Amino acid sequence: MEDKMKEMLQKLKETAVVVGDKTEDAVKQIGKKTGETVELAKLNMKIFDLKTEIGIEHREIGKLMYAIHVGKEVEEKAVDERLKSIDSKLAEIAQYQERIAELKKAVVCPSCGEVCSKSDSFCKKCGSELNK
Ligand SMILES: [Zn+2]
Repeated sequence: MEDKMKEMLQKLKETAVVVGDKTEDAVKQIGKKTGETVELAKLNMKIFDLKTEIGIEHREIGKLMYAIHVGKEVEEKAVDERLKSIDSKLAEIAQYQERIAELKKAVVCPSCGEVCSKSDSFCKKCGSELNK
């Protein structure tokens, strides 16, 4: 009887260890997934902000262009700085999109920057061939 008891306890212990390990793994998996989701959300937020800022730059450039059109004195530097600012913001967006693709295990279209699936040969947005 005592032996049976010992055997049962031993079996219970073994099961407990296995269950424990699995739970730990699952928790780790969820933790990793949550981390990725949070990073994705942050990246998308940054891209959204940059696109908003680019929209403002576009509008300001438009105003400067119109000022030139109506013969107002406009500093050439003012337009140039805004154009350069857009360039750097677009470069920043491209970097974030690369990171998003990495997280999603996807590819970024070299032509338009759309995040596409690795199984696609061509961009779903513009039809360009995807580098893989
Ligand atoms: Zn594209």
